[in-house]
Amino acid sequence: MERKKTERINSAAQSWFFRWIFLIIFIAGGIHETSLAQEIRDEGNFILEFGSTEDPAESQYRQYLIDEGSLDAVVQDMNCELNLRENVRVTFRTSDSGSNNPLYDAEYNQILISYGFVIEVSSLFRGDANAWFPNVVQIVLHEMGHALMDVNKIEQYYDGENNEVLADQLAFFVMSEFYEADDALQQVAEHFDIRSVDRNVLSATSGDHLPDSERATQFICWIEGKRHFMADRYGGCRGEYEALLDSWDDRLAPSWKAAFAFESREDDEYDEYECDEPG
Ligand SMILES: [Zn+2]
Repeated sequence: MERKKTERINSAAQSWFFRWIFLIIFIAGGIHETSLAQEIRDEGNFILEFGSTEDPAESQYRQYLIDEGSLDAVVQDMNCELNLRENVRVTFRTSDSGSNNPLYDAEYNQILISYGFVIEVSSLFRGDANAWFPNVVQIVLHEMGHALMDVNKIEQYYDGENNEVLADQLAFFVMSEFYEADDALQQVAEHFDIRSVDRNVLSATSGDHLPDSERATQFICWIEGKRHFMADRYGGCRGEYEALLDSWDDRLAPSWKAAFAFESREDDEYDEYECDEPG
């Protein structure tokens, strides 16, 4: 009798033991699987650099970009929020004889933007920095979109045109959701609009991009979509803005430093990840 009781206790204990082991394995397996699926290790940063130039006008713009400081802040914020698998250099450089167009060079993980292009954008706005500077920020973020898709192996469409839309979406996403820079985004739409009608513009922003007229329409639509996001009635642009948010919410999910940093999107309020001030 005594023995049987002990046995029963033992077997109960064993059953609990196995249940716990099972649970622990189950949880650990789940965490392991999740981390395998989600983890993008923090092994790189965006690195901003301003190449030297002999040209007086380029020197002036170079100094402006450095002194203004926002580009440095954007790069730091991106590094603060996102893990990158490799370093990506964000290089402003003197114009060469070749194409002036900004680009992301996947072979060298490098974004290249010439001072000549910056000067051209400035001239389209008659030198008004409130108008041209946001466009430089947009251009940097657009190229960062390409870089993120490449370095963090984020799903792309493998169709040049669609990936250009994705890069524009990222630029809009960051300017709109990180900085709430809605006025700046208006200037971006304006920029594409000016290019689409100004035949004297030497270098189109295109390449693989959509035509400037379409990019202008697209940016205006996103701005409108965001403005009417909380409205009850469904509008085409609201849907486009919603698609933009979903697209990059999903694509960036494995790259956020703070897990689920943007989870509270439904409240139209994003948690901020506290970054260490750079030492
Ligand atoms: Zn592009």
